[in-house]
Amino acid sequence: MSDSPVVTRFAPSPTGYLHIGGARTALFNWLYARGRGGQFLLRIEDTDRARSTPEATEAILKGMAWLGLDHDGEVVSQFERAGRHTKVANEMLAKGHAYKCFSTQDEIAEFREAARAEGKSTLFRSPWRDTDPSTHPDAPFVVRLKAPRDGETVIEDAVQGKVTFRNDQLDDMICLRSDGTPTYMLAVVVDDHDMGVTHVIRGDDHLNNAARQKLVYEAMDWDVPVFAHIPLIHGPDGKKLSKRHGALRVEEYQAMGYPAPAMRNYLARLGWSHGDDEVFTDDQAKDWFDLGGIGKGAARFDFKKLDH
Ligand code: GLU
Repeated sequence: MSDSPVVTRFAPSPTGYLHIGGARTALFNWLYARGRGGQFLLRIEDTDRARSTPEATEAILKGMAWLGLDHDGEVVSQFERAGRHTKVANEMLAKGHAYKCFSTQDEIAEFREAARAEGKSTLFRSPWRDTDPSTHPDAPFVVRLKAPRDGETVIEDAVQGKVTFRNDQLDDMICLRSDGTPTYMLAVVVDDHDMGVTHVIRGDDHLNNAARQKLVYEAMDWDVPVFAHIPLIHGPDGKKLSKRHGALRVEEYQAMGYPAPAMRNYLARLGWSHGDDEVFTDDQAKDWFDLGGIGKGAARFDFKKLDH
């Protein structure tokens, strides 16, 4: 993987405006690719039809354009790729890496209740995992990944280091819902693979997902990308970033008249540092930016610093 050209992506869900955290993720991906002659792709993760809006997509595109974060190729819509996601789920079924689960919501709730009463793990264990398809009923089903139960899944994260997950704590995640639609967890892996993404740089709220996503790569015998999970941004008081810490929308800074280069400089320093350098040009940022320079602790967002 090390000699393949770098391909990164920003994959926002269009459920709201482009906020400071998302813009920083986009910037890190852009810097990493641009500094290495690689490609920076943009995928709109619009599979959640109830929450995705065209206005949010537009706000994200506008915010990125203002910040000068140009992407390569067409904007990819995840929703439009549903057919491909389904095809991969069926391939996993055919290869025995996934199975049809006919358990109903009530049965799953009963399973959990019984497990709780016995003091056992409430992780759902489907009775359909090893059944012969010829005995299957003609009834609605979901497609679940047949996750390994023994051993461990290890993510060698470029920011977090080695992160180990016990496989007996991973569930057989749903890949296709009972209405046949693919889940986000499947779609993200298929899209990253098909788009040739080599480095997945995103918020560390996705770290747990990475372990489950890695199982899909393994089931499909695909190269696993380099994962880099960046700590979330907190306010100067150490609390989760919220409105009381200052403006959260990128468009608010644009409206206030901040120059985009200053904004880029500020965002780059949210969680990444390069020695004592505080102000740098785009070229320097592209040259210097590396995943090793991203801190493991939460970045502190201090609106006042941006003001000066
Ligand atoms: N669509 C996800 C989000 O906005 C990002 C997923 C990813 O980067 O893998 O949180």
